[in-house]
Amino acid sequence: MIDLTDKVILITGGSRGIGRATAVMAARAGAKVAIHYGKRLDAAEEVRAEIEQAGGTALIVRADIASREEVFAMLDRVIDAFGRIDIVVNNAGIWKKDPIDNLSDDVLAETIDINLYGCYWVIKAAVPHMVRQKSGNIINIASTAGQRGEAFHSSYASTKGALISLTKSLAAELAPHNIRVNCVAPGWVLTDMSRDAIAEDSRGSIVDKIPLGRVGRPEELAGPILFLASDLSTFVTGEILNVNGGAVLCG
Ligand code: NAD
Repeated sequence: MIDLTDKVILITGGSRGIGRATAVMAARAGAKVAIHYGKRLDAAEEVRAEIEQAGGTALIVRADIASREEVFAMLDRVIDAFGRIDIVVNNAGIWKKDPIDNLSDDVLAETIDINLYGCYWVIKAAVPHMVRQKSGNIINIASTAGQRGEAFHSSYASTKGALISLTKSLAAELAPHNIRVNCVAPGWVLTDMSRDAIAEDSRGSIVDKIPLGRVGRPEELAGPILFLASDLSTFVTGEILNVNGGAVLCG
């Protein structure tokens, strides 16, 4: 039912975790997939191989997502290869733990640069193409932390909250150009980002707060992301889609 035939999708942080699952599923739905990675070319190559072995089309693109210059160059590469950009998934991000009195200026700046500016650079580079095409689809990956806050992770939570208001602002602003802007707010999902925290939670306090009684799998995020990317959701824009096992029930 989710048909992305001939759509061009760019997924940042597409070499692992939620991004990887989304890349593989998007290719299965017929999309041409640009897999962005930051450091691990080998991991990106694995994703491309998996897509190509299943008969799909994939391109690997590298950029430090915090670098405006590198992100704009990355968008140029996608356009050179595929001729257009239909969907961007702003998925790359970092999650660092620090109490406020210990939070260094460097960590704060790095988190804002990657989690917030990085999304801005992708959006600013993609939107002119989408305006020209008279269509486009932007999906920002926020977090329950951006909805309810997260103790000891204020840098992360504040950037994710910003993505929620960025989503709503641009949904209204870009609708006249037939560009939809939505957000997925994951709860706990087992990936490299969360693996240690989940493993260390011997008392089960993470799972205890999730009504479905378990953490999510990356594929369980990919489905909702691609629902928003697809023509099954053409009347949905400015939405914050909760994908958290029932842990945080808000928009
Ligand atoms: P992950 O750590 O596996 O993936 C994050 C990706 O971002 C990696 O591919 C990493 O290389 C990339 N990245 C980070 N900094 C970068 C930079 N400067 N330049 C280029 N790439 C960079 O984690 P994940 O769980 O798959 O996270 C995906 C998204 O989901 C993130 O935005 C994260 O905040 C969000 N999220 C995850 C969880 C969870 O429990 N895993 C919960 C809520 C939200």
